Amino acid sequence: MEGPTLIFASGNKGKIREAAEILEGRYKVISAAEAGFTEEVEETGTTFRENSLLKSQAIWKALGRDCFSDDSGLEVDALGGEPGIYSARYAGEDKDFENNIDKLLFKLEGITERRARFRCCVTLMLGGQPHFFDGTLEGEIGLERRGSQGFGYDPVFIPDIIAPGVANTQRLTIAEISEEAKNRISHRARALAEMTAWLSRER
Ligand code: IMP
Repeated sequence: MEGPTLIFASGNKGKIREAAEILEGRYKVISAAEAGFTEEVEETGTTFRENSLLKSQAIWKALGRDCFSDDSGLEVDALGGEPGIYSARYAGEDKDFENNIDKLLFKLEGITERRARFRCCVTLMLGGQPHFFDGTLEGEIGLERRGSQGFGYDPVFIPDIIAPGVANTQRLTIAEISEEAKNRISHRARALAEMTAWLSRER
């Protein structure tokens, strides 16, 4: 059973794969490109919520179809919440994951207080009406990269938990755990779980 189709207003392959897996069995997720929308939406908002809304609004305006979008990023306490909404383009407009990590590790050199969190805001656009769902994952930034799974800042992010309610005593990075394990604890998984719970209540 694939369930109804929802367009995920994102061009990020890592995110699309994760969302498809998280919603598997309940919704069939297709990317914006698969739905015929290939424009890059400019993220001119000042919060995750505003940027997430811009992406869903763009799809709704162009295709008139229900969809969901997310805006997500990393907040590091010692950097006053940076990179935040600028996570994807922290080291430049080419949105290079490796350069972003290099910049982050450079800025944190010599800093021992490395608390951070991933945040995700999902906008579900139904009939032109937006609904918002949030998720966070607490952790800290490691001293160097470890692991090859996931995307973005995963190789330097050490989550507090490794599974729901289970402490990460081995201090693994997200890039050292399977995608399946990540999808049980991630900020995106939590926001999407809120969304699916809401959908089963309201629809
Ligand atoms: P967005 O596409 O504007 O939401 O950019 C989100 C950016 O935040 C990504 O390009 C990554 O740099 C970072 N990010 C968001 N979620 C994750 C994640 O699950 N793992 C690693 N990095 C993430």
